[in-house]
This record gives sequence, structure tokens and C-alpha cells, in this order.
Amino acid sequence: MVKITGFTTRDVRFPTSLDKTGSDAMNAAGDYSAAYCILSTDSEHEGHGMTFTIGRGNEIVCLAIKSLAPLIAGRDLDSLTADWGKTWRYLVSDSQLRWIGPEKGVIHLALGALVNAIWDLWAKTLNKPVWKVVADMTPEEVVRCIDFRYITDALTPEEAVALLKEVEADKKKRIEEAERSEAVPAYTTSAGWLGYGEEKMKTLLEESVRAGYRHFKLKVGGNLEDDKRRLSIARDAIGYDKGNILMVDANQVWSVPEAISHMKELAQFKPWFIEEPTSPDDVLGHAAIRTALRDTPHGTIGVATGEMCQNRVMFKQFLQAGALTVLQPDACRVGGVNECLAILLLARKFGVPIVPHSGGVGLPEYTQHLSTIDYVVVSGKKSVLEYVDHLHEHFEHPASVKNGYYVTPMEPGYSVEMKPESMDRYSFPGEEGKSWWKTEEARTILEGPRIV
Ligand SMILES: [Mg+2]
Repeated sequence: MVKITGFTTRDVRFPTSLDKTGSDAMNAAGDYSAAYCILSTDSEHEGHGMTFTIGRGNEIVCLAIKSLAPLIAGRDLDSLTADWGKTWRYLVSDSQLRWIGPEKGVIHLALGALVNAIWDLWAKTLNKPVWKVVADMTPEEVVRCIDFRYITDALTPEEAVALLKEVEADKKKRIEEAERSEAVPAYTTSAGWLGYGEEKMKTLLEESVRAGYRHFKLKVGGNLEDDKRRLSIARDAIGYDKGNILMVDANQVWSVPEAISHMKELAQFKPWFIEEPTSPDDVLGHAAIRTALRDTPHGTIGVATGEMCQNRVMFKQFLQAGALTVLQPDACRVGGVNECLAILLLARKFGVPIVPHSGGVGLPEYTQHLSTIDYVVVSGKKSVLEYVDHLHEHFEHPASVKNGYYVTPMEPGYSVEMKPESMDRYSFPGEEGKSWWKTEEARTILEGPRIV
């Protein structure tokens, strides 16, 4: 029996705005950050969960974690995991906190950190990685993790059990594949940030091709001529006929008609999909873009979104409206593993592949578990998963890619535990003499012009 005795939060920020890592059409200069929730227990284990943000405002998420975490302080872990769906419902049902959501925005980002910390703790006590905890469940047990409120018009628990049973026969074989690290092919965005110069982009793309990658993503959505030049450099590096796939990501900069006209101009570069063409809340807008880009003279361009999609209800509507070619849930923007399971099952029901959002610190560490769960337990089909080669050195068990595949995590837990020295070094606002944010170098960011 493990009792949760308390919690702490940590505000950790990496100064990625210094070299424009992570830059795109909407986010010019982010400082990749993590709002941590660390659960302490009366055992040797701690539960680590985090939510990803890009800097300013991370402290607000930490405050929201402080408001939510008392809901589970003093509870036995078993009492939370015995009926997970019920626990999740309980965590979103504090009526006063619910007012500042419900199930969206800062309070939901905080919930993601808290719920994932419970999963991390639970998996550690079971001595398994999170993906294997789910892989070892029966279909009924998986479905019991989910709060089906608001989605039964699209998917009932009974249907979900039936979908899982359909792919159960070969599950053992897929677990073995996962154990050989052949379950989750990776794609890379490392070359494609908008703030990178053309030479840097070209070198990084060529390196990625040599490293065995077959999928490449570039940021677009700036000036049209610049986008054309960048995509043409990319196609020169990866070719059109070598089986290499190009994706583009506009990070919400366009209105619907702009998205359609801009992407028609870029159709000659044959992207598989346009990611986040417009507002993440615009279900019908995405549907209109998908329809308009279905038949260009150069073929079909698909539509993808999800990294800022706030909950399973929105995903349900995107799917019901036929608005998406690819669905990209974020591991901590929605309410943790449980809500992600609901989203994976919805995607399976509608026959849409999932490509989780991983462009951020800690995200690949999380999403490698979700993509493995999708392949092994939910869809039975391989997809791809974004891998961004930044900041992994700060994690105790960093995500990594070998031969174009994610190396399946085998350590117990949910893989986002950060090294204590990294937490101290990048804690914000941080301690004098310990934190980078108290150094002279940090003044460039703290006192420099705010890049909006
Ligand atoms: Mg994106």
C-alpha cells in the first residue's frame, strides 16, 4: 500500500529563445518550459508529472497544480487507480475549480501534470513503463480508465471494448515488436524551425536523411515566397522520389481562406499534410480546408491538428465533421493518460491515424508511451511520432531514436523525471548562485525586448 503524502511543484525553463529553437509562425521565441508536479509518498517512490509550456505563464500553471493536487493528498494510490475513470471524473469535478475551465486552458494543463504524475507513480510501484501497464490490461480494464461523459454519442464503453478486442489476437506479437524497439517510427522537426537560416536547415536535413529518417516537418506560414524557397531547399535535400515524406506546420497563423490559398501555392512541394492551418478551435474551418485541399493539381494535402486541442470533446467533433487526416493529441494539454486513451479510441473508431505532438521539452519522453500504446493496444497499426533532438540530456531516462525508430522505454514510470541538477540549474526565477536565470547571460532574455 502506497500513500500519497504531499506534493511539490517546480517551474523549470530552458532559454531556447536564445537560438530560436522551437520558432514557428506563431511562436517567435519560446523558452521551452515544464511545470512539474512531484508527488511524495510513504514509500521509496515519487510520482513525476509535467506540463509543457513555452515560458512566460509557466508560473500560472504551477499555481493551478497547487490548487488541484490537494484533491489527492493523503489518498492511497490503490484507491485512485482501482476505478481510474471515476478518479478522473472526480479530479475535473471540483465545482469551484471547474469554473476556470471546464476541462480546458490552464486548469487542464495542470490536470495533465497531476494525472501523469499519478500514472508515473503507479507504473513505478508496478515496476513497469506506463505503456506496458496499459498493454497488460484487459480491454475492459483499459476502458475503465476513461471518463466517457460527453463522448458516448460517438463512442460507448461497449463499442470501445469491442474495438480493443478486435486487435487483441496479435497483441502479444506487437508487444514483442515494441520490446525490440520496432513499434514507433520517428519523424523529425529539428531542421525545420522558422528562425533557422537556410544553410543550417539544409545541413540538418541532410544529417537527418543520413540518420535514417523518412519523414520531415517544416514550419511555414511566414511570407509565401520564403516558404516556397524553404520547401524547395527541403525537397532538394530529401528528394521527391526517394520515399521521403514532407509535412508542413503553420501553427495557427491563417484564417480559413488564407490557409486554402497559401497551401494551394505550396501544393507543388507535395506535403502529406498541413498542420494547424488555423485556430485550434475551428472544427468547421478545418473541415472546409480539408475539402478545399483534397484535389489540388498536385494531389491531396491532408489536414492535421491537435497540439492545442483542449479536450476529448473537441477531438470528437473534429472526427465527426471529417475535418482531419491525422490527429495530433498532446500528452499533457488534455487531462493526462486517461483522456489520451479516450482520444486514441475515438481516432480508432473514425479510422484516423494519430501522430502525437512532441515538439517540446519532455513531450517525446511522454508520447513514446502513447504511440506504443496506440500500436500495441488500440489501433494495431504503425504510425509515426515526432522527435525533436533538444534537451533530452536533462532527463533521467531520455527518449532516443535508433534506426529511424523510437527506442521503446523499458524503465518503470512515465519517463519525464528530470535530473535534480537540471531542475536546480533551470529553475525559475531560481536561486542566486544555482539557477541560470540569475546569471548575467539571462539578462538578454529578462531585460531584452519581449518578442511577441
Ligand atoms: Mg505543430
